[in-house]
Amino acid sequence: MSSASERKDFESTKKMKGVMFKYFTELENGPAQGKKTAWCTSVGPAELLRALGFNVYFPENHGAMLGATRMATDLIPLANARGFSPDICSYLTSDVGSYLKGESPLQKMKLSGPPKADVLVFNTNQCRDVKDWFQFYAREWDVPCIGVHTPRSIGDVSDSIIDDVARQIEGLVEPLEQVAGEKLDPKKLREVVDLSRQCTELWKAVLQAAVNVPSPLTFFDGTIQMGPAVVLRGHVDAIEYYRGLVDELQQRIADGVAAVEDETHRIYWEGMPVWGKLSGLSGLFMQLKTSVVASTYCNSWIFDDLDPDDPYKSMARAYSSIFICRSEDAKQKYIEEMAERYGIDGILYHDAKTCPNNSNNRYQLPQRLQAKLDKPYLVINGDLNDLRLYSEEQTKTNIEAFVEQLAET
Ligand code: SF4
Repeated sequence: MSSASERKDFESTKKMKGVMFKYFTELENGPAQGKKTAWCTSVGPAELLRALGFNVYFPENHGAMLGATRMATDLIPLANARGFSPDICSYLTSDVGSYLKGESPLQKMKLSGPPKADVLVFNTNQCRDVKDWFQFYAREWDVPCIGVHTPRSIGDVSDSIIDDVARQIEGLVEPLEQVAGEKLDPKKLREVVDLSRQCTELWKAVLQAAVNVPSPLTFFDGTIQMGPAVVLRGHVDAIEYYRGLVDELQQRIADGVAAVEDETHRIYWEGMPVWGKLSGLSGLFMQLKTSVVASTYCNSWIFDDLDPDDPYKSMARAYSSIFICRSEDAKQKYIEEMAERYGIDGILYHDAKTCPNNSNNRYQLPQRLQAKLDKPYLVINGDLNDLRLYSEEQTKTNIEAFVEQLAET
C-alpha cells in the first residue's frame, strides 16, 4: 500500500525503462555496426540527423541523469579545475566532470558510458553553453562541431527569422553528409519529421491530461516520462510508448485517480527541475495536497509547428518558438495562457544559479504575472544539478509557507 507522500507510478514506466535501455544499447553498439553517432542539443535539428542515418545522442539527458543520481555534485569540481567556472551550466560541468573521471550513470545499466561523437550539432536557441560544451568534445576528439545560431529574446517569430534559421539548418546538410558518408534522402527527412510530429502530439496529450481536476499526473511524473520525447523524437519507439501512456492516463481520469490524494491546490513550476531532489519535493507537495500540474520545462518538448511537407521551415519555426528563446512579453503571455488552461492557484519559480537562461524570475516576470493574474508566487533558489546551491530546509519552509498562503487566498 502506498503512503500519502509516495508518488503513484505508471504501469507504463516499466516499459519506458526497456525503451530507454534499447536506445542506449543501440548507441553503444552503433560503431561496431557501422553506424555514426551525432551529438545533438535538446532542441537541435535531430530530425535531420536521424534522416541521415546517425544514432543521435543528447548530452543534456545525460546531464539530467547525473543530477538525478546525485553524481553531479562530486563531478562538477573536476570540470572547474579544468577552467570551467562553477557559475556556468551545471549540466556542462557535471558532464565534463563525468568524462574526465570516466564515471557515468549509464554504467549502472552495464553500458560503458556516453558514446563518442563523430559530429556534434548544436542550436543556440537555448543558450551559448551548449556550443561551448560541444566545442570541448570537438577539441578532445578532433571531430566537427557545427550548428545553428538562433536569435534570442524573440518577440514575434517573423518570416525573416524563420528564413534565416531554415537556411542555417539546410546549410548543415552538406557537412553532415560528408560525416555520414551518405546523401540525404528528402523523403526520409519528411518521414522523420512526421514521426517527430506524432511524438509531439502524444507528449502534448500526456501533459494536457493534467488539465483534469484532480490531475492524474504531476510535473514530477512529467520529468520522468519525458525521456522518450527528448531522446527518441523522430523514432517510432517514442510514439508507441506514449500511446500506451495516454491510454493509462485516460483510464486514471475515468477512474478518478488523482496523482495527489485530496488535491487542494494546483501550481505551476517555472524553471528547471532540481534533479537530485525530485522525489523529496514530490513527497512534500503530496503531503501538502498540492499538485504541480504544469511546467514550462516539460512543455518545452512540444513542437506544434513541425510539418513533414515543409521540413526545413517548420523545424526552424518549431525550434525558434520555444519558450526559452522568446521575449519577456511572449513568456508572460505563454504563462498567462497556461495558468488559465490548467486552473492554477500559484506559480513557483526556480532560480537555478547556473542556468540564467531557464530562470525566469530575474526580470520582473513574477511581479507582472501576479499583477495580471492575481495569483501568489514563490521563488526558490537552487540549481538543476549542483546541490551545493540548494538548501533543502529553506526550500521546505518556503514551500510550506507558500501553500499556507494559497489556502488563505
Ligand atoms: S539551457 Fe541552462 S541547463 Fe540547459 S544547457 Fe543551457 S545553461 Fe545548461
